[in-house]
Amino acid sequence: MLQCTSLTNRPLEMTAATLQRTANPPSNLPKFLLALGTYALCELGEEHDGNHSEHVWDTAVGEALWLMWGSDGGHQLITMPACEEISPSDDELVCYLHQGHSAAHSWDVQDPARDELREVLERQMFGSHEAE
Ligand SMILES: [Zn+2]
Ligand SMILES: [Zn+2]
Repeated sequence: MLQCTSLTNRPLEMTAATLQRTANPPSNLPKFLLALGTYALCELGEEHDGNHSEHVWDTAVGEALWLMWGSDGGHQLITMPACEEISPSDDELVCYLHQGHSAAHSWDVQDPARDELREVLERQMFGSHEAE
């Protein structure tokens, strides 16, 4: 199943404030926020029900902070337990999506756009010698 393509502007101040209140925040919050980037991309399988969701930070074992947004553009940050469904394949991958998510489990969601982006970035970082 393909990944949902919903993008949203990341609510940075809201994310920073929420992370500061968690029991186990990132050690370098400004650096962490910079790495998250300006846009959030939904990580659920396409045609899922309910809100779009992006994994932000593991707040505890089996629990994570999720950014959720609906078609009205409103943002919510919610701590939720992980789904933890195990894939039927031999590698026994664990679904990291939040409990009660609809559509496919994380190990069954493909992300061609992100794979492509990663390839482009890696070429830029490691491919420069070949061009010289
Ligand atoms: Zn979505
Ligand atoms: Zn799942």
